[in-house]
Amino acid sequence: MNLSPQHGSTPSGPRIAVLGGGIGGLAAAAFLYRAGLHATVFEQAPALGAVGAGLVVSPNAVRLIRRLGHLESLLEKAVPLEVGWEFRRWESGEVLSAEQLTGRCEELYGERTYVAHRVDLLESLIVAVPEEWLRLGKRCIGVTQYSEVAELKFDDDTTFSADVVIGADGVHSVVRGAIAEAEPAQYSGMCAYRAIVPAEAAPEFARRPAQTLWIGPDHHLVHYPISSGTAVNLVAFAPAGDFTEESWSTKATIEEFLDEFAGWDPRLTDLIRAAGIPGRWALLDRAPLTQWSHGRITLLGDAAHPMFPFFAQGAAQAIDDAAVLAQCLTLDPDNPENALKAYEQLRIERTTKVQQLSHARKDINHLPDGPAQQERDAALAQGDPLVKNAWLYGYDAESWVKEEHAPTAGPERD
Ligand code: FAD
Repeated sequence: MNLSPQHGSTPSGPRIAVLGGGIGGLAAAAFLYRAGLHATVFEQAPALGAVGAGLVVSPNAVRLIRRLGHLESLLEKAVPLEVGWEFRRWESGEVLSAEQLTGRCEELYGERTYVAHRVDLLESLIVAVPEEWLRLGKRCIGVTQYSEVAELKFDDDTTFSADVVIGADGVHSVVRGAIAEAEPAQYSGMCAYRAIVPAEAAPEFARRPAQTLWIGPDHHLVHYPISSGTAVNLVAFAPAGDFTEESWSTKATIEEFLDEFAGWDPRLTDLIRAAGIPGRWALLDRAPLTQWSHGRITLLGDAAHPMFPFFAQGAAQAIDDAAVLAQCLTLDPDNPENALKAYEQLRIERTTKVQQLSHARKDINHLPDGPAQQERDAALAQGDPLVKNAWLYGYDAESWVKEEHAPTAGPERD
């Protein structure tokens, strides 16, 4: 398998369409480019990367971004975490558990964990994709599969035929509707309050290079520094009531945010007061799919496996998908249907597990005070959390393909 970049070579292999220019779609394009394949990325927005807030970039994603050759672009602004998953009790701030990352994370996994603005992560991927591959302002309204090609249809009455379609078009995926159930995502009954607090307005404890989670009845709140430490990303989860808007631009008031966290540690409510006008976002839910590749069409990232953000792995799993998919297509360029099935089989068990664990954290993080909460807190205090997460952080998506891929069985056909 040749993994060296083939930059500048004549397009070869299948004609690939990637739908969606988010983290997953751009990562897919970047890995395809590195593999010497050729793709076109269609994104509905007129520009890439304008929106978003903070993200944890865990070692499994960092090692892949490093291989794309542009990690330094991310590291210009990403903050290396010294402490990860610092769980605190809601009304006292008592530390229940924490990962001591400095030195140990590299020692165990070969990479650090970073916290970054989503835009900074996107930029480190954009520079790894040839500009001429990008088609912006192209909203897809349907995908049809024929025996020899798959065809994307856009709202400007244009179409594009491809040998392979990768649906990286997020939780509301149009592509998903072409190969799995076309039902809309369900509202989860939870929402996220989000804010980016200027560092100078944030209390000192929130400026530490730590990913801190305050957990309490029906709610939890997460904060960490981003953007070279000039800002603190704050995201808090609470019951949504009848609120169902899912948009980066919907606003809440500081009073609504404070009401949700009334009675919590005053250091936290001070941080909320510093938040300015918070955003509010309804969290969606979907059950895991049992398959996501069909013929020439496949899914990737949130389109395939949307998850609650409680394991901080949605973007990382999309990047893992991208690396595996590019390798499967490289190994089987003349039989994309085989390649897409192999990709699904290599990824689906792991992403389903992360989806399910993220889902379960909703209940675990939000236990009311009482015996179950005491049991949870005791469990959190046991063992080394960094080692407990080895199955996630130690996963090398590309090595996994080399170890597990057996391009022999053909895909099931209708
Ligand atoms: P998206 O980012 O949704 O991108 C889809 C793209 O497709 C968009 O650009 C969209 O415009 C485009 N598109 C959609 N439909 C069409 C169409 N019809 N035609 C053309 N283009 C289309 N992940 C982590 O790894 N770490 C974290 O710490 C973390 N924290 C999170 C916190 C919150 C509150 C939330 C909500 C998510 C968090 N995530 C985190 C998850 C992460 O943001 C997502 O999993 C990730 O962005 C998924 O990327 P994607 O490319 O699959 O989908």
